[in-house]
Amino acid sequence: MHVIVRNLNKKFGSFHAAKDVSFDIKKGKLIGLLGPSGGGKTTILRMLAGLEIPCSGDILFHGKSVINSAPQERGIGFVFQNYALFRHMTVFQNIAFGLTIQKKDKKTIANKVNALLELTGLQGLENRYPHQLSGGQRQRVAFARALAPEPQLLLLDEPFAAIDAKVRKELRTWLKEMIQRLGITSIFVTHDQEEAIEIADEIIIINQGRVEQVGTPMQIYKHPRSAFVANFIGESNTIRNIEEWKGFSKFTGLGAAMVRPENVEVLTHEEVVRADTLPRGVVSNVIFKGSNWQVEVNIEGTTVLAYRPLEKKEISVGEEVNVVIHQLHFFDEDKANIVK
Ligand code: ATP
Repeated sequence: MHVIVRNLNKKFGSFHAAKDVSFDIKKGKLIGLLGPSGGGKTTILRMLAGLEIPCSGDILFHGKSVINSAPQERGIGFVFQNYALFRHMTVFQNIAFGLTIQKKDKKTIANKVNALLELTGLQGLENRYPHQLSGGQRQRVAFARALAPEPQLLLLDEPFAAIDAKVRKELRTWLKEMIQRLGITSIFVTHDQEEAIEIADEIIIINQGRVEQVGTPMQIYKHPRSAFVANFIGESNTIRNIEEWKGFSKFTGLGAAMVRPENVEVLTHEEVVRADTLPRGVVSNVIFKGSNWQVEVNIEGTTVLAYRPLEKKEISVGEEVNVVIHQLHFFDEDKANIVK
């Protein structure tokens, strides 16, 4: 389903929880609503579902406004973080719930539930109750239950938050595959940037009720529009005094500079070709990360994080080094332009 959100506003009393929120979602895409806690992600999801009424703005499904439609008329499936399964119902009954409400006949229900049990790998567990399942299994039941009435849009609110780290990773890959296979437009809320980067086709960054940026994970990572986005997605260094660094005086007045650690190359005394042209600093910390070294270098009073490949010589704290900056972003009044 093609979803259009236009200038949605929501106030709770005097608190403005959603401010002029607009975005378009193409059919079949998996979208991550990402942002810090309290930013308004759940409020946006609830407005899409019809559980919260916006103060102004519009929501269009297939080009038609649904702003006056009740939740049950919107063709939406919902998965919550705390499973919200019916405790007194078996797995089968939970998955069948929406179809029972729709008064489908027994045979249709049995066929549909069995197909979903197979799809979600839950065969053999149909007679269990929620308390007899693992967290991952429960969330798969919640997913199957949401899918049973064949919604055109699936909304998932922090679907993996209550699950331990290892299962969560497996489950999110599983969810992505499942959604791709079904081709169902889906939106999930998360405050976990790694989760959003890994599975979303597109990410919508929400902060303080506003859309900060929309793009593919790669676009957002490579071209963050604001310092907030740069800090929220991936590791970054903010350098406020870049003009004081050797070779960087031409950037005076451009605002705070941002560089990703993978774009900072640390050169030891033996590796550097012309030390006099490069900023110089002292290594203040080195952490072995398995796939690389994380090196912190203090340059002109600013600590800069860099990644150093393992095949290079180990560096020690206190060592004097030079750095090469491969890509800098500048943020001036929240507008970024890559200048180097
Ligand atoms: P989290 O990741 O913590 O769930 P979120 O980004 O989903 O956060 P929301 O739950 O949408 O954020 O909340 C946005 C803001 O609106 C919060 O400050 C919250 O306290 C406020 N809020 C949400 N619902 C209500 C309500 N019914 N009444 C008053 N304030 C509310």
